[in-house]
Amino acid sequence: MSEKVTSLRGMSDVLPEQAAQWRALERLWVGMMAQYGYGEIRLPLLEKVALFKRAIGEVTDIVEKEMFTLQDRDGEGIALRPEGTASCIRAGIEQGLLYHQTQKWWYQGPMFRYERPQKGRYRQFHQFGVESFGFSDSDIELEHFLLVQRLFRSLNILDAVTLEVNSLGSLAARQVYRAALIDYWEKHAESLDSDAKRRLYTNPLRILDSKVPEMQPLIANAPQLQEYWDADSATSFARLLEKCDALGIRYRINPRLVRGLDYYNGLVYEWTTTALGAQGTLCAGGRYDTLVEQLGGKPTPGVGFGMGIERVLLLVEQLNPMHIDTRPAVYVVFEGPQTETVALQLSETWRDKLPDLRLVVHMGGGSLKSQFKKADKSGAKWALILGEREIETQTVSIKWLRQSDKPQHSIAQTEALDWFSQYLQGNEE
Ligand code: ATP
Ligand code: MG
Repeated sequence: MSEKVTSLRGMSDVLPEQAAQWRALERLWVGMMAQYGYGEIRLPLLEKVALFKRAIGEVTDIVEKEMFTLQDRDGEGIALRPEGTASCIRAGIEQGLLYHQTQKWWYQGPMFRYERPQKGRYRQFHQFGVESFGFSDSDIELEHFLLVQRLFRSLNILDAVTLEVNSLGSLAARQVYRAALIDYWEKHAESLDSDAKRRLYTNPLRILDSKVPEMQPLIANAPQLQEYWDADSATSFARLLEKCDALGIRYRINPRLVRGLDYYNGLVYEWTTTALGAQGTLCAGGRYDTLVEQLGGKPTPGVGFGMGIERVLLLVEQLNPMHIDTRPAVYVVFEGPQTETVALQLSETWRDKLPDLRLVVHMGGGSLKSQFKKADKSGAKWALILGEREIETQTVSIKWLRQSDKPQHSIAQTEALDWFSQYLQGNEE
């Protein structure tokens, strides 16, 4: 036997039973996006490396260590997308859809990051994302909160999730804060770990995000971002929180929340849970008013978030598992000359008339006995039997597979449709 080829580390298969949960979540999401008037944008999985370097920043975890990159045949560096915002903006600029317009977009799909795989952290993972362009007022952030809140409430996980918010202030204010932080880290250089030392001048804010226990006292005493906010940022953050209160959106101000990406200004936030261990961030986003310009477009404000689908599903599984019935209602078994053709023909007409009926025709031959075994294993409610007698009399026999007290009986083939539709309406008894 030849050696088995295995999948790549951190890249999983989603098998049918699990995929049914994915589909249910996707349906919920897609329905909500239509409800709120967001349009779907489908973006390539591959982009130029330069796009992510410029958008996310050279000295971020994603660009420094997590990107899957390869060389195009002509030597151009390309990357499997690690996130969706940069591609959305690239597309918006390229298609002329951002300048002097407003856009509300959503996307969905795989993202790739070279990370150490563990529960809730994979190398291929999936996100739902939302990006809105051309809105400078905070009403759009409120709408994003409301729709995430609606999704989590529908999934019955809202109580286990906290919305953590912070404001990074204006870019100018952040520059001043950055200088103050560098000053502070320099004064305590001997207490910095190697990661922090490396980031001291390139990404001093990111040091605040360090999870290293020895660094925590130093971080706790670092200058606080809020002390450097400009008046406008402070007022607009306060106003946003007031509106959250009025709308019943619960939040917690987290003054240490800075997010790892360079492109944010103003509001940043994360929806987190303590129920998933270290991988507790389900959804993260914020405002990025200079990013469009930075990527070659005309100045256009932007706000968006990305949500980790695997983590949401893990939390749902843990707190409120979805029970999705994928079992067929009807399993058609047949034996004897002509019966295969009749079984397939009848099933096609039933599927035409009742597209919601889950109807499986036995495949793969075998005795009636072995077909019944398969029917039973499928979890179907009824086996529908087509033997020679049924063909002759143009009937079908119905056997209840889950209720042994109900006798097998026959009905005319022309009546089967009515029988099924009564079942679909839930009053078949
Ligand atoms: P983390 O701090 O957990 O690494 P992040 O800040 O890198 O997350 P973002 O870039 O903000 O994550 O991505 C948005 C969401 O995508 C995250 O909140 C998370 O739910 C999900 N996510 C990010 N990286 C992974 C991954 N490697 N595997 C699974 N989900 C992920
Ligand atoms: Mg990360």
